[in-house]
Amino acid sequence: MIRFSLVCENSHEFESWFASNDSYDFQIENDLVSCPHCNVTKVSKAVMAPAVARKKRTAAAPVKQNVALLGESDRELRTMAHELHAKIVAATVDVGAEFPQEARRIHDGAAPVRPIRGQASLEEARDLMEEGVSILPMPILPEDRG
Ligand SMILES: [Zn+2]
Repeated sequence: MIRFSLVCENSHEFESWFASNDSYDFQIENDLVSCPHCNVTKVSKAVMAPAVARKKRTAAAPVKQNVALLGESDRELRTMAHELHAKIVAATVDVGAEFPQEARRIHDGAAPVRPIRGQASLEEARDLMEEGVSILPMPILPEDRG
């Protein structure tokens, strides 16, 4: 079964189920589908409502992160990611949620230069990079898997 959004010649929108695309074509060509509002049989597939489509298009594009899916044969890469993660953890001081402010202070010379790590939203990370603060994304690890 396929569900189509339909519109009649009087611009009534409604949905209807069809066994297949061919079934839809056959029923439309033979005027077997009628509008539940006005009963006309001049019906076609509805184009997505322009207002909705426009709203979606102007919305800010979501920030994408690089991710990788590793198979069982890629354990070496996974191990490297773990080791890298451990090295970064060992070499940095955790400043937690203060990271964006602290990174900015260090960049501006207002705090002693030292390696830190912490949390930043994607937006904060982007802002920092735009300001020329060279931050690195930490390898994200599924904590409970090896
Ligand atoms: Zn109608």
